[in-house]
Amino acid sequence: MRQNTLLSTTLREAPADAEVISHQWMLRAGFIRQLAAGIYTYLPLGWRVLRKVEQIVREEMDRAGAQEMLMPAMQPTELWKESGRYAVYGPELIRLHDRHEREFALGPTHEEVITKLVSGEISSYRRLPVTLYQIQTKFRDERRPRFGLLRGREFLMKDAYSFDADWAGLDQTYWKMYDAYQRIFNRCALKYRPVEADAGAIGGEGGTHEFMALADIGEDTIAVCPHCEYAANIEKAVAGAVAGTGTGIGIGTGTVPQTPGSLTVEQEDLAQEQEKIHTPGIRTIDQLVQALGVEANEIIKTLIYTADGQAIAVLVRGDHEVNEIKVKNVLSVENLEIANAEVVAKATGAPVGFVGPVGLTIPVFMDRGVADMSRGIAGANEQDYHIRNVQPKRDLSLEHIGDFRNVVEGDICPRCEEGSLQFYRGIEVGHVFKLGTKYSEKLGARFLDASGSEQVMIMGCYGIGVSRILSAIVEQNQDEQGIIWPMALAPFQVHVIPVSLKDEIQMKTAEELYQRLVDCGIEVLLDDRDERPGVKFKDSDLIGIPIRIVVGKHAAEGNVEFKERARAEQKIMKLEDAFSCVV
Ligand code: ATP
Ligand code: MG
Ligand code: MG
Ligand code: MG
Repeated sequence: MRQNTLLSTTLREAPADAEVISHQWMLRAGFIRQLAAGIYTYLPLGWRVLRKVEQIVREEMDRAGAQEMLMPAMQPTELWKESGRYAVYGPELIRLHDRHEREFALGPTHEEVITKLVSGEISSYRRLPVTLYQIQTKFRDERRPRFGLLRGREFLMKDAYSFDADWAGLDQTYWKMYDAYQRIFNRCALKYRPVEADAGAIGGEGGTHEFMALADIGEDTIAVCPHCEYAANIEKAVAGAVAGTGTGIGIGTGTVPQTPGSLTVEQEDLAQEQEKIHTPGIRTIDQLVQALGVEANEIIKTLIYTADGQAIAVLVRGDHEVNEIKVKNVLSVENLEIANAEVVAKATGAPVGFVGPVGLTIPVFMDRGVADMSRGIAGANEQDYHIRNVQPKRDLSLEHIGDFRNVVEGDICPRCEEGSLQFYRGIEVGHVFKLGTKYSEKLGARFLDASGSEQVMIMGCYGIGVSRILSAIVEQNQDEQGIIWPMALAPFQVHVIPVSLKDEIQMKTAEELYQRLVDCGIEVLLDDRDERPGVKFKDSDLIGIPIRIVVGKHAAEGNVEFKERARAEQKIMKLEDAFSCVV
C-alpha cells in the first residue's frame, strides 16, 4: 500500500473527550473516527487490524469445530418476549418499529435467534453436539459509551452458541471453547487472565469464565490468589460468599410508597417487577440488577448485610459513593438508626431500588422522592442527594458478618485459604458461559434421544469483543510516540520509508524493496508522501508498524536503516540483509 493514497490523517492532538491512551492513539494515528457516542468508523488502518483479529478468531473457532454463519441484526421482539428477556434486558436493548408498527430490536446478542433456529433445524440426538458462531456487529445502548472501542454502542463481536445432548457434553464443549479462547488471546499477544465470573445478565446455571486483558483502565476488578490458581471477577467473589451462606439474597416483596411523585414504575410494570424479583436463582446483585432492568454501575453492586446473614442490597444509581451511610459497612434496615438522619436533598430522576430478605416490606423503586424514612432506608441516586447521619443502632463489627461482605484486597483466598488476594484491573475481552436449558426450554429447542424420548438441548454461549480487543492491545502496547502493534495484528508488517522523494537512488531502492517484499506476501506500507523526514518518522512511530526500513543517504552504498518499533536501536545494514530479516 502506498501511503500517498492511504486514507489516513494523523492528528497532533486527540480530542479532549478521549480519556484513555488507546482511544487517543487510535484517533491520532488515524485508525478510527467517531460518528456518534460509542459509534465508530474504522479507517483503512483500523479495518486491517480488525480483520486480523477476526481472522484469528475465525481460525481458532473453526479449529475447535465450530461452524461460522451469520444471523440478522434485526430481531423481532416477539422472540425476546418468548424467552422472557424482553422485560428484563432494559434500555440497553435498542428497539425500533417498522412501517407496520411491528417492533424489532437490534441484536445485542443472539441467544433467542439461534435457539429458535436450531429448534427448527435439529430434532435428533444424532445431530448433536453442534457449535455455531458468527462475527457480527452488535448493538447495545450502553449507558456510558466510552473509551473508544472499549465500550461502544455498535461494536463487533464473535458470538458462539453450543447445543449438546447432555450436561457432560456441554462440559466438554465448554472447555474446548475455553482452550480456543486461550489460543486466540495468545495469538493476539494479549496479556490476559481467565477468571471465574458471575452469572450476570444471561443467566443460567453452571460455570462461566471471563477473559480479562490486564490494564489499569479496565472497568472490571479481578481478585487473584498468588498461591493457587484462583482468579475471579470480584463480583463473583462476592457472589461466592453469599452463595456459601445458604441464605442467599432474598428479594423484598416491595411496596411502593403511594406519595405523589414517588413512583417511577407504572403499576403494570410493577406487577412485572414483582414477578421478576421472585424469580428463583437470583443470587447476585448483578443478576438482580439485570432482573429489575435498572441500569447498573458500581454503586448498585454495593451490598449491605445484616449480622444474622440476611443480605440486603442497596441499589443506587449514580456514579458516586454514598459515603454517609457507609454502604460498604454492614448495616441492615433494622439496624439503621435514622431518627436523627437528615435529608440532604431529594433524590431526583433515576430509580433507587432496595431489596431485602424475603418477607421484609421495603420500597422497590422510588423516583423524585426521598428514601422512605419510616422504613429506615437511606440512599439516593445522585451526588449529594442522600441521607446523612444514618447510624448503625448497634456496633456491628466485621466479625459479625463473616463472609458476608465485599471481598477486599488482602482477603484470604477462598480456595486455598492461604494466599491473600491481590486485585488487578481488567478489560473483559471474552466470556464463556454454560447456559444450560434457560433458552432451549423457553424457545422449544428439543430433540429425541436414543431411546426416542424428548429432551431439552443443553446450551452454552461464548462471546469475544473483537473490536474491543483492538483497544486492549493498544492499551498494553504503546509508548510516548504511539502504538506498537504486535506482528500478528499490525495493519502492515513493514514500513518502508524513502527519506527524499527527489533522490533517484533512494526512490528506486525503496520501490524495488517494496515490490520484492510484496511479492513475498508481506504487507508493506511505502511512505511515498512528499513530506519532511521528521514528519514521516513521527507518523511511522504513531501508526506503530513493527518493522521500519528507512532508505536514506546510505542507499548509495546499498545500505538501509532497519528499526523495530518496539526497540530503540536502529541498525544500518545491507539491503539484502534487511530483506532477509523480514522475509
Ligand atoms: P461488559 O461487562 O464489559 O459490559 P458484557 O459482559 O456485557 O461486557 P457480554 O454480553 O459477555 O458482554 O458480551 C461478550 C463480549 O462482547 C464481552 O466479553 C466484551 O468483550 C464484548 N463487549 C460487550 N459489550 C461491549 C461494548 N459495549 N463494546 C465493545 N465490546 C463489548
Ligand atoms: Mg455489558
Ligand atoms: Mg461483563
Ligand atoms: Mg460478559
